[in-house]
Amino acid sequence: MSHILHRQFVHSYPVAVAGDGPYVIDAKGQRYLDASGGAAVSCLGHSHKSVVEAIKAQLDRLPYTHSGFFTNEPAEALAEHLVTRAPEGLGKVYFLSGGSEANETALKLARSYWVEKGEPQRVHFISRRQSYHGNTLATLSIGGNRGRRAVYEPLLMPSTQIAPCYPYREKWPEEQDLDYGLRAADELEAAIRRLGPETVIGFVAETVVGATAGALAPVPGYLKRIREICDRYGVLLILDEVMSGMGRTGYLFACAEDGISPDLLTCAKGLGAGYQPIGACLISGEIVETLAGGSGSFQHGFTYIGHPTACAGGLAVQHAIEREGLLERVRTQGAALRAALEARFGNHRYIGDIRGRGLFLALELVEDRASKAPFDPQYKLHARVKAEAMARGLMCYPSGGTADGVRGDHVLLAPPFIISDGQIEELVEKLAAALDAAFPAAA
Ligand code: PMP
Repeated sequence: MSHILHRQFVHSYPVAVAGDGPYVIDAKGQRYLDASGGAAVSCLGHSHKSVVEAIKAQLDRLPYTHSGFFTNEPAEALAEHLVTRAPEGLGKVYFLSGGSEANETALKLARSYWVEKGEPQRVHFISRRQSYHGNTLATLSIGGNRGRRAVYEPLLMPSTQIAPCYPYREKWPEEQDLDYGLRAADELEAAIRRLGPETVIGFVAETVVGATAGALAPVPGYLKRIREICDRYGVLLILDEVMSGMGRTGYLFACAEDGISPDLLTCAKGLGAGYQPIGACLISGEIVETLAGGSGSFQHGFTYIGHPTACAGGLAVQHAIEREGLLERVRTQGAALRAALEARFGNHRYIGDIRGRGLFLALELVEDRASKAPFDPQYKLHARVKAEAMARGLMCYPSGGTADGVRGDHVLLAPPFIISDGQIEELVEKLAAALDAAFPAAA
């Protein structure tokens, strides 16, 4: 009997005991192809030797120091690695233990910036429906995952939300990508004007939406317009790349593909690839200089900031990505996986959309392709898909649709960057079998 409080109280999970490249192995010897990297974390698979060695070496040298007393070599080296590859203007890094802490930090840095600028009346964040930024009360406040918010509602601070960039459901049939992107982005301008630009701290968005809607990538022009609107009204742009960053889309920073730089950028999962818990917030020179020229400090902090062992793990992961040419590999294997998904599911009666970037892909499941009507949430299709996939030795990341039809169930795929052609075939075969078993029998 497990003494752990699991997320699903009544669920009995297999006991994971070992990793082998892109596979996880349980105590009964069953192998699972990790087609979702857990939750888009394990980008190097589960047994990368150079990362394990680097972590062991750091443990031998110095496992931990507190950031109130020292900086440390791995943290400095990882910060330099990130800053020298980051979108223009992001000159400093703040290390955390995960994605929620990174976003919480970004929100507080943004608020501190305006206080130091002498504009304390700026109190509003604008974010998007169909978004997830973390599980703390502040990050839930700006997040758009209604299920996760509901219980905590009276405690959450108010936030204003606009539509996500969701062409499958929101683009008019006659519209070009660029027109749709501009129309969707202009919702931000309308929200800023409604609230009063002088009261808005910043706009927060996932560069590519992950868990709440399944690999929703911005159409060309959308993020450029968002950047222009933020600049026009002096509103900070905060991009959450906790899931989509660190190479998952084929670019170290996903927004590089859109040709823009945010004022604050967060990353986590792929940064440590699951070998260590680590997240980061990258900060613009303008924000740093404003804080430095004002109070000279940032009222914030956690015990494990810049944890040496976590940073050594993160640095080894990033070195492996460069040494092994894995960004390029994400682009080629991403294109191969996408082509295989399209060949297998492009005409499937229950699959409405196949989308994403790089090795960050998703299928949206619908009961009716013509009307795009989702399955009844009572049917719990996403849970059935997960169970059927696990029974066949496949990990994928399905999430539920909404009762009001705003979105369908979807399956998120985020396999390790090292996935081979043969493993892509295995993934698609097992997924097809799991979906067939999970879908209602054809009438
Ligand atoms: N932002 C995004 C986009 C995420 O996908 C997640 C995790 N799913 C988080 C933030 C929160 O990260 P963590 O669970 O590491 O706190």
